[in-house]
Amino acid sequence: MEYVNVTIEKTKKIALIAHDGKKAELLDWACRNKEILQRHHLCGTGTTGSLIQEQTGLPVQIFKSGPFGGDQQIGARIVDGKIDMLIFIWDPLEAQPHDPDIKALLRIATVYDIPVANNLATADFIIHSRFMNEEYVHPIEDQVKKMKNRLVSVLK
Ligand code: PGA
Repeated sequence: MEYVNVTIEKTKKIALIAHDGKKAELLDWACRNKEILQRHHLCGTGTTGSLIQEQTGLPVQIFKSGPFGGDQQIGARIVDGKIDMLIFIWDPLEAQPHDPDIKALLRIATVYDIPVANNLATADFIIHSRFMNEEYVHPIEDQVKKMKNRLVSVLK
């Protein structure tokens, strides 16, 4: 397999999402970690992003609400390299109308090998990692080469 190196800059572009049953927990976490978060660029789905902006006073780029495509907007930005970390506190005890979007977002975050926290303990480990204060280079599969190889095999 062939890889390309991708750099996550020292200043991270962090997406924040929480389902309704988890919003209070994420808000509390964001307030407790405001000092760290303020060194990075934040974005989030409609309701989560607005609440975090309001409660922490930090600027947050706000996308559509999750059920209205916000998860997909964040996924597309991961693909474009415009988001390099995902704090996604989804609710394991509540069914969501946009479950396919959630799966798609988690899948694409894995494809692009970005750090993902699905609970606050993981979020704590991530934001207290030394990599938060430095550039981080990681290899991801070279999709251009992979596509070319597929083209060759399809056209055989
Ligand atoms: P919300 O979206 O922040 O607009 O509530 C999150 C979600 O439910 O995916």
